[in-house]
Amino acid sequence: MPIVEKLVTVSGDGVNEPSNVRVPTGTPAGVIINACGGYAAEDILLIAGGPMMGKTITSDKFVIGTYSNALTVLQHKPVKAIACLRCGKCSDHCPAGLQPVRINAAEKAKDTDALKKLGVMDCVECGMCTYICPSKIDVTEGVRRAKRIMALKK
Ligand code: SF4
Ligand code: SF4
Repeated sequence: MPIVEKLVTVSGDGVNEPSNVRVPTGTPAGVIINACGGYAAEDILLIAGGPMMGKTITSDKFVIGTYSNALTVLQHKPVKAIACLRCGKCSDHCPAGLQPVRINAAEKAKDTDALKKLGVMDCVECGMCTYICPSKIDVTEGVRRAKRIMALKK
């Protein structure tokens, strides 16, 4: 029997009625959010997955697949990042033993040799480096971009 339906956790302050729902695979995210009372704000951040491991998506036409378990809808509150303090916290807390701050620098320089040496593909996209950063830099997003550069290089 193939997987034809999924239990999806819809959470976050950007949806009116956060719920667990059982839906057929192929259901668009927007349909599920409407069934959960709709968006609670105009400016929202839609994440396919949970708040730490999920990926930000730009359209709620994204459909639930066999791999989807959660939708996170957050009210978008822009955070002003400041310059890196070189505190090293992102490296200290990376569960994969990486140096996210150096990966970000290499990504900006498009230095694929450095990215390879820094082991960027070992990143598990846990989101810890963004969470821990006192400068409010979205370090994880920089690491994701670096992974995409390396994936395209293959
Ligand atoms: S997102 Fe990647 S680089 Fe950042 S802490 Fe997690 S594993 Fe390390
Ligand atoms: S945690 Fe933030 S401020 Fe500290 S080194 Fe990493 S990127 Fe820079």
